[in-house]
Amino acid sequence: MTVGTLQTAVGLRGELREGEPLAQHTTWRVGGPARRFYRPADTEDLAAFLRGLDPAEPLLWLGLGSNLLVPDAGFAGTVIQTQGCLSRMQRQGANGIFAESGVSCAKLARFAARQGLVGAEFLAGIPGTMGGALAMNAGAWGGETWAHVARVRTIDRQGRVRARVPADYAVGYREVKGKAGEWFLDLVLELRQGDGEAAMARIRELLDQRARTQPTGVPSCGSVFRNPPGDHAARLIESVGLKGFRIGGAQVSERHANFIINTGDARADDIGRLIEHVMLAVEQRTGVRLVPEVRRIDGGIK
Ligand SMILES: Cc1cc2nc3c(=O)[nH]c(=O)nc-3n(C[C@H](O)[C@H](O)[C@H](O)COP(=O)(O)OP(=O)(O)OC[C@H]3O[C@@H](n4cnc5c(N)ncnc54)[C@H](O)[C@@H]3O)c2cc1C
Repeated sequence: MTVGTLQTAVGLRGELREGEPLAQHTTWRVGGPARRFYRPADTEDLAAFLRGLDPAEPLLWLGLGSNLLVPDAGFAGTVIQTQGCLSRMQRQGANGIFAESGVSCAKLARFAARQGLVGAEFLAGIPGTMGGALAMNAGAWGGETWAHVARVRTIDRQGRVRARVPADYAVGYREVKGKAGEWFLDLVLELRQGDGEAAMARIRELLDQRARTQPTGVPSCGSVFRNPPGDHAARLIESVGLKGFRIGGAQVSERHANFIINTGDARADDIGRLIEHVMLAVEQRTGVRLVPEVRRIDGGIK
């Protein structure tokens, strides 16, 4: 339950809420309240907020919540929301685009095309922020976020900002390992000059393709599991007869078996139990252990 905007510490310009329902900030539309929820005014304000936090306070960074399973009990710590807050974007140099971490992937893809820069079209259908795309190495149709990253800036709990380059990270399929205790503030993507109109047409084509093959208009988190090497999680799930299988309000999509949808009244617990059920059934019947792509958050409010 939202109990309103609280008085923030002296000098802070962002918005601090208590008990913010996280179901309103996740694309699965599930998840209990965050003990505290901060929307920074800008980078400097975020740094000041972080410096003032108790070092033991659990922190969760939230973009558009399109890859997060937050428990029904909520999050017993502070959530930092970037979407709608850290949202500056501009052209940088001949081939670069600077974007803060709260810029949506869709906005960046379109901005790049309008600037006559190509290579970012794959981002158009990913319903997250650039911060989330960096954290996940989001990708689609053969494109991957980190293939285009020139540099990033990070921030730590002391509010210290650092410039980093791709070589500072171990980047894999939907996986990025960097220095612990640092989060993404902004990035510069390096693209190629090309035909912006053709890039816009490609964006429309990719969005149409998505609409034809994936469930749209129902709460989901996209693909729940990573594709195992040389195979597809959706094929494996379908092969064990789980398409359409439900637990409570959570259902394996009839349209795309690697999607779990909230049919209306799902709880995070239904989704969590369905994920485990799918993993167990696929492993018992095919020997393949599926690895979830979605991030499951623990830390229920005590
Ligand atoms: C319908 C649908 C289709 C999808 N299709 C795709 C697809 O084609 N390809 C794909 O890769 N993904 C896809 N996804 C999943 C999701 O959109 C991506 O993983 C996306 O990158 C998540 O971004 P987000 O801003 O929503 O991150 P969130 O879900 O808010 O967070 C995801 C993780 O990133 C961390 N994080 C967020 N911001 C930051 C930051 N600034 N610094 C450090 N860590 C941060 C969070 O703490 C969390 O661990 C899809 C999801 C949906 C709902």
